[in-house]
Amino acid sequence: ATPTAIMVGTGRGAEIGVLFRKGEALQLLKDARVVALDKTGTLTEGRPVLTDLEIVAGLARNQVLAQIAAVESHSEHPIARALVASAEEAGIALPEMTAFESVTGMGVRAKVAGVRVAVGAERFMAQLGLAVDGFADTAARLGDEGKSPLYAAIDGRLAAIMAVADPIKPSTPAAIAALHRLGLKVAMITGDNARTAQAIARQLGIDEVVAEVLPAGKVAAVRRLKATHGQLAFVGDGINDAPALAEADVGLAIGTGTEVAMESAEVVLMSGNLQGVPNAIALSKATLGNIH
Ligand code: ADP
Ligand code: MG
Repeated sequence: ATPTAIMVGTGRGAEIGVLFRKGEALQLLKDARVVALDKTGTLTEGRPVLTDLEIVAGLARNQVLAQIAAVESHSEHPIARALVASAEEAGIALPEMTAFESVTGMGVRAKVAGVRVAVGAERFMAQLGLAVDGFADTAARLGDEGKSPLYAAIDGRLAAIMAVADPIKPSTPAAIAALHRLGLKVAMITGDNARTAQAIARQLGIDEVVAEVLPAGKVAAVRRLKATHGQLAFVGDGINDAPALAEADVGLAIGTGTEVAMESAEVVLMSGNLQGVPNAIALSKATLGNIH
């Protein structure tokens, strides 16, 4: 491509809120075959809310919620904010908490008023030696509704199953349809549970799902998708997405996301809107499509 074409394309990008940090990205995007998307904060708002809370018989709901929220009050995960907010809304005071520990991609644990409390994914409970079989039907139903099931263990026993739901951004369905019209495959890579991810993918017409990946697994997922489909663009917003953004042929960061993601990406979508992705690819095809 000529330097002039790249300059024109980059300038046009800036006008529509697509910031090319490297001219090379504009050239590569026209040959993209697959777009891999992070789920939380990229496809969704990244602001989950607590929708369900089912307590084991014999335990008091408000006390369990207080213990859960106390642990989560030290976590910065969006899920943590959802759980703390619902305790606050219920007017529940948080008990004192010590020995907080966050286990990446798993959950959190601490001692609440001297009692061990753990909150997180099924795999976190498994790691703690707790089977969640008793809640299998509930978890399946919640997952099929596109909600993310979570568990709480108190004093070494399973105490509750809950679910958070994270609304899909209003702009997401049209952006995915536009990517399909451009002839691209659309994939989702997420740390969330498989059933939930499948339900959301079905709803959005996403072609391929890689779920239950630990943060370190996102890079491996990107490599696998690249090997299967060819030239790959990855879109993400979080600190966890930085390695995948770097690994992709073109990394696109959501402009309302974290600083780290934007620094690892070649393209920043200023609107915080997924529509920037098909816009960027269409722009690349329009400005550089026939020049070699
Ligand atoms: P994502 O947020 O994209 O799902 P993460 O790697 O941050 O990916 O988290 C993976 C999973 O670990 C979450 O879906 C959740 O089940 C669990 N988890 C992580 N942090 C927390 C937390 N603070 N509280 C409860 N569960 C958590
Ligand atoms: Mg995210």
